[in-house]
Amino acid sequence: MAGREKRKRVAAALDDDDDEHRRLRRKQEEAENLLRRIRGLVRWVAGEVAAGRSPSVALHRYQNYCAAPAGSPCACSYDVPVGTYVLSLLHRDSHASRLNVLLRVLLVVQQLLQQNKHCSKRDIYYMYPSIFQEQAVVDRAINDICILFQCSRHNLNVVPVANGLVMGWIRFLEGEKKVYCIMNVNAAFTIPVSIEAIKDVVSVADYILVVEKETGYPDIPTRRFLRYLVEQLHLPAYCLVDADPYGFDILATYKFGSLQLAYDANFLRVPGIRWLGVFTSDFEDYCLPDCCLLDLSSEDRRKAEGILSRCYLNSEAPQWRLELAAMLQKGVKFEIEALSARSISFLSEEYIPQKIKQGRYI
Ligand SMILES: [Zn+2]
Repeated sequence: MAGREKRKRVAAALDDDDDEHRRLRRKQEEAENLLRRIRGLVRWVAGEVAAGRSPSVALHRYQNYCAAPAGSPCACSYDVPVGTYVLSLLHRDSHASRLNVLLRVLLVVQQLLQQNKHCSKRDIYYMYPSIFQEQAVVDRAINDICILFQCSRHNLNVVPVANGLVMGWIRFLEGEKKVYCIMNVNAAFTIPVSIEAIKDVVSVADYILVVEKETGYPDIPTRRFLRYLVEQLHLPAYCLVDADPYGFDILATYKFGSLQLAYDANFLRVPGIRWLGVFTSDFEDYCLPDCCLLDLSSEDRRKAEGILSRCYLNSEAPQWRLELAAMLQKGVKFEIEALSARSISFLSEEYIPQKIKQGRYI
């Protein structure tokens, strides 16, 4: 009996090894394939220039939302480009330098893939600061490359710096590192930079709670990690943000993606995420003291009006839109922490569990 158990365990371990090998092999094949296509493009550009021609590259343009009025159709889409623009090398305009930057960044990416190394966008900027001049130029080139080769940033071995934290009833491996949140549920752990390194996720949680913190908009690792957990663990995800236009925009970034990364939005977004709070109406429902309430500034109002005009709210989240409109109409805002005015544990012991149990989310 013991012998059979042991054989079974050994077999399971071998299966895990197989999975790991398959994963690594697939990753290597993807990298080689991308490398081939990058070399092909660079060779073609060099050939065109040598022959005295002006090479140009067509880039799709993606847009996940716009400000089309309610009811009027628009072209926004998560997976179909809304247009194309052409970057040409020999025309002496801004496009020329954009293609030049693109080729330089491609050179770096090529080296990263060949040597199986990783670096950040900031590292790339510092390789040719006099040519790139500013970080935004590198960011745009990376975006262009993703669109050109139909891949995501992590495929290019360009890794972001994560600033999100995870805690609670979960444990997993990040490469060889054990991230055992479950052993110390009161401690926060850094979210892995790359979900490709995550293995053996185990969780006994009932739901995932996403909470806005001072760092503001969620970065790519945080959004990929959330998406990964939702898909792997099949748990509902709830989002808790401040009752102000910035909180709403953060919430919208999780559900719909951002305009800057519209091309990748469909791989980063969590369409099923629910808005748990805090709602402007919570203020009265939970009898919070008036001193916690702030008036919306003129900037807040402008921001809220801009968000209200986004096409996706009408088509995909009309209830969210109504709640934001109510905030603007009342002209007030307050932070999640205002709920602690009731008592220090009110948020964790009453507000969140009650809201989830009673289905008071949208
Ligand atoms: Zn639109």
